Amino acid sequence: MIDLKGRVALITGGSRGIGRATAILFAKANADVAITYRSNDSAANLVVEEIKNMGRKAIALKGDVSKSSDVKMIVKEVLNYFGKIDILVNNAGIWTYGAIGEMPEEIWDETMNVNLKGVYLITNEVVPIMKKQRWGRIINISSTAGQRGEAFHSHYAASKGAIIAFTKSLAVELAKFNILVNCVAPGWVNTDMCAEVFKDPAFVEQVKSTIPLGRIPEPEEIAGPILFLASDLANWITGATISVNGGSVLCG
Ligand code: NAP
Repeated sequence: MIDLKGRVALITGGSRGIGRATAILFAKANADVAITYRSNDSAANLVVEEIKNMGRKAIALKGDVSKSSDVKMIVKEVLNYFGKIDILVNNAGIWTYGAIGEMPEEIWDETMNVNLKGVYLITNEVVPIMKKQRWGRIINISSTAGQRGEAFHSHYAASKGAIIAFTKSLAVELAKFNILVNCVAPGWVNTDMCAEVFKDPAFVEQVKSTIPLGRIPEPEEIAGPILFLASDLANWITGATISVNGGSVLCG
């Protein structure tokens, strides 16, 4: 029922985790896909190969989403290759530890630059293209941290909360161009981002105990709601934040 045939999607951070799962699911739904990544060439190439094997077009573009020159290059390349950008998934992000009172300024700046400025930079380049098309879907990946806060990760939570405010603002600003802007807010997900903390089985059990559905999801389970928001089934949704967390945000 969901068919993205004829649509071109640009997914930041598409080499691994939630971005990778989203890129592959979008291709299964017949979209052509551009992914971006920061450094992991082999992971990015594997995603492109997998999508091409499915009969869809795909390219991977290397660049830092927090650098204006990289973002301009990425958007230009995608436009040269595909001729348009219909769907933007702002997914690239980082999650680091930072106790307030001893958080180095560099940690704060890095998180804000990648998680928040990166979303602004790429959206700022893509929106003029979508305005000309008078069609666009922007899906920003926030977090439960942005909805309820996250102790010892206040910089991350602040960046993700700001994304929700950014989303609501653009939803109103861009509605007349038929550009819909929404958020997906995952809780814990089984990706490389959490691999280090999930090495401790006791921590994993403690995390599971905070999730009503009682387990940690795979990235594919976040990709589904992202696909829904990109599809025609979501034509009347803009400015929303969809909680995709097994109920955990209700219990914090
Ligand atoms: P992940 O597995 O760590 O993958 C991160 C992706 O982002 C990779 O493709 C990485 O590229 C790319 N990336 C990182 N920094 C970048 C930069 N400066 N410029 C360009 N690309 C960059 O992450 P994930 O767990 O899938 O998370 C994806 C999104 O979901 C993030 O926004 C995260 O905050 C959010 N989220 C995750 C969780 C979770 O539990 N995992 C929970 C809530 C929200 P390389 O492969 O080249 O490094």
